[in-house]
Amino acid sequence: MRALMFDGALKLQEIDPPVRPPNHALLKMRAVGICNTDIELLNGYYNFHGVLGHEFVAEVIEGADEWIGKRVVGEINIACESCDYCQRGIPSQCHNRKTLGIRDYQGAFAEYLTLPVRNLHAVPDSISDDQAVFVEPLASALEIPELVHIQPGSSVIVIGAGKLGLLCAQVLNHLGADVSVVVRRQKPRELLAAWGIKALESGSLMESSTDVVIDCTGTEDGIKTALDIAKPRGSVIMKSTYARKANINLSQAVVKELRLIGTRCGPFPAAIRLLARKSIDVESMIDAHYEIEDAVAALDAANESGKLKVIVHF
Ligand SMILES: [Zn+2]
Ligand SMILES: [Zn+2]
Repeated sequence: MRALMFDGALKLQEIDPPVRPPNHALLKMRAVGICNTDIELLNGYYNFHGVLGHEFVAEVIEGADEWIGKRVVGEINIACESCDYCQRGIPSQCHNRKTLGIRDYQGAFAEYLTLPVRNLHAVPDSISDDQAVFVEPLASALEIPELVHIQPGSSVIVIGAGKLGLLCAQVLNHLGADVSVVVRRQKPRELLAAWGIKALESGSLMESSTDVVIDCTGTEDGIKTALDIAKPRGSVIMKSTYARKANINLSQAVVKELRLIGTRCGPFPAAIRLLARKSIDVESMIDAHYEIEDAVAALDAANESGKLKVIVHF
């Protein structure tokens, strides 16, 4: 089967299809979205080598009978089910976890993939393949209100108007919070206007002004700005993972008694419900479509600055 492989260089390669272990499903890939994490893996994050890709929609072709023929998305943490985090119902922090296309597990940029059946979620017909590849990042945005009490009147600023920042902004706007997004480019400015969400210039940010600041920039400047503009006793949500090391003065987090909250994966069922209800607009965030033959070019395109979602079809 064809797979998009990274071993220091990115290439489309013919590899053996995976053999299905017990309690796993064999999936035939339909579409995969490119995430900033994929780009960071190419830059050396996690020292990753292998098949990339973790935002996918696929069809079950082998496995438990009730799943055959279903269109599915899948949770990306492959957990051991026996460690203390698994026992507490937090498989995303399993001590022995593998992570789809990120850590010790073949990713979704391949014609076939196996995943534990318990990781799968059926996609209703009302959600298209293009929309379904957003389930994983939308779930990750939905983890924010799981972790922070966002009051209806809370002021929220999202720094970084990329793919994840725009999803976070839509989710928190949906909760009734007073959301603004720091924007540099025209396209996100237009999307925010269409969604009724305020756009801000970085020059207009005020120190210690905001209840909840969400950093989705993937840069150390983003987290520095977040620490600056958060109100005393406010919350800074950290959504960026990147290969570089940030050089940050954390004293103001101590002095302002900020809550710094790292967050990663979130609830798939809620993301599927929001997409099925058309409550979140993801289609306007798609910038390009490619076929698997051109997956290397798709990654190059996704790496251009300011690009929103690029989807690869099989
Ligand atoms: Zn991702
Ligand atoms: Zn575990």
